[in-house]
Amino acid sequence: MKKADLVSALHNNGIIRGTKLLLHSSYKSINFEGAPEEVCQSFMEAVGDEGLLVMPSHSLNFKNYPATKGPYNPGRSPSTTGAITEAFRKMPRVARSLHPSHSVAAWGRGAREFVKGHEKLEPEGAGTPLEKFSRTDGLILMMGCGIGSATILHVAEFMAEVPYLKVHYNPAWGYEAEYIDEEDGKVKTYKYNTVPGCSAGFQNAIPWLKEAGFYRELSLNKESSCLMNAGGLMKVAVEKLKQEPYALLTTDETHISGCNYCKQVQRMSRAV
Ligand SMILES: [Zn+2]
Repeated sequence: MKKADLVSALHNNGIIRGTKLLLHSSYKSINFEGAPEEVCQSFMEAVGDEGLLVMPSHSLNFKNYPATKGPYNPGRSPSTTGAITEAFRKMPRVARSLHPSHSVAAWGRGAREFVKGHEKLEPEGAGTPLEKFSRTDGLILMMGCGIGSATILHVAEFMAEVPYLKVHYNPAWGYEAEYIDEEDGKVKTYKYNTVPGCSAGFQNAIPWLKEAGFYRELSLNKESSCLMNAGGLMKVAVEKLKQEPYALLTTDETHISGCNYCKQVQRMSRAV
């Protein structure tokens, strides 16, 4: 698949000029003939200047992260969410939020405003870029990766106030992180109340979303991808979690036995 093929595949799937798109991706899965930058260019061409292209660019600069990386620097800290996101965050006119662990990068109409203020909020709480995205008519494309990578479901957990929000994914990382504020160049400290957890159970949401008509499987080339409606996803997931707060916990006991986070959440669910 070349750039022109990708642009036309996107158009055929309703990703057109003016679309607001949140992209999660696996570069290795799409069999693309070209660099990750060209994948980004294909998406920019498809949605155009009047559209909005958003990607996660998480850098996980926790203060006590095992491989201490120092303060998060939006211009330098690498993205840990794949080759396409790493290329994207470095491209011209791409704005990246100042959140030290869970930053988001955006390009297109209103991109700078879209990522603003993230460092003053919980990683995936109300008012964050992804929560704002769920209030648009935007689409979410999981290109060659599954719904397990859909960070926006952590926003749903936050909005539904699930009882396990206070469980830290890995307490050893600590509750603080540092970042360099672009405005004054100073190193500032960020304090966490909540740290997004494990997403092993996110596939539980597929039947809910399918039933509501907000989830569609597709293939842009040979990979398996899915396209979801952001507002629909948020509505369905928050309603479900309000009724069943542990609905996104994985049922895979093998995973749970090896995952401290899921173990704790399961214990909470059983204590109810
Ligand atoms: Zn887990």
